[in-house]
Amino acid sequence: MASIIFEGVEKRYPDGSTAIRHLDLEIQDGEFLVLVGPSGCGKSTALRMIAGLEDITGGQLMIGGEVANDLAPRDRDVAMVFQSYALYPHMSVAENIGFGLSARGVAKNVIAEKVGKTAKLLELEPYLNRKPGQLSGGQRQRVAMGRALVREPAAFLMDEPLSNLDARLRAQMRGEIARLQKMSGITTVYVTHDQVEAMTMGDRVAVMRGGVLQQLGAPRTLYDAP
Ligand code: ADP
Ligand code: ADP
Repeated sequence: MASIIFEGVEKRYPDGSTAIRHLDLEIQDGEFLVLVGPSGCGKSTALRMIAGLEDITGGQLMIGGEVANDLAPRDRDVAMVFQSYALYPHMSVAENIGFGLSARGVAKNVIAEKVGKTAKLLELEPYLNRKPGQLSGGQRQRVAMGRALVREPAAFLMDEPLSNLDARLRAQMRGEIARLQKMSGITTVYVTHDQVEAMTMGDRVAVMRGGVLQQLGAPRTLYDAP
């Protein structure tokens, strides 16, 4: 687990546009923080900075007590799940979950053990031999989360992970992700523009607007949020 701290972080793109004007935000060890706000407010940029997918043009980002500004994505102990969670269609659920580990040369028996543990956590054990095409949308979503969680990262990042699911599944997965986060205790940053997700899933909500943090607090303390 790791804390994630933005200290006066800025992001200017080479074309002069500013995605983040000034961000001070301290995400605690083991916390589930929801980052919410209208389209273009800078929330994906902030998340991608944690993953190391965006250069930081000002200020400092600390992950687990270390300055992370210039760390390569591979050297950060974080895992990210995207909105479009392309799974390998020809691979089984178990192979999809274990793919990142086999690509890193982890021993087969260790992979099997970690995949088993992850599948149990995500209630995917009955489906380990199926192909993604034989799964429901919610199950595919859980496989995508499994692929990230199997590495046992210190922090878990999600960018609109439910936006491709229908309303019923979204409602179900909201609860499942919150439960999973509580069980694993992994520091989690969850980006969404969905007010219901913001108000029901996390320990705290950070509301961004126009590249700055507008509000920060427990869901019930916020009103008029995104
Ligand atoms: P959100 O996730 O809240 O929708 P983003 O973080 O994606 O917002 O984008 C924040 C701002 O930065 C937007 O105004 C967007 O147009 C701008 N932006 C994002 N990516 C780039 C880029 N590669 N080049 C220039 N501007 C960008
Ligand atoms: P890592 O832990 O290195 O991020 P991943 O399993 O996420 O491992 O991906 C390893 C590589 O395979 C990355 O370069 C990623 O972009 C690519 N990749 C992941 N999933 C797919 C997919 N469904 N189709 C094509 N390429 C993929």
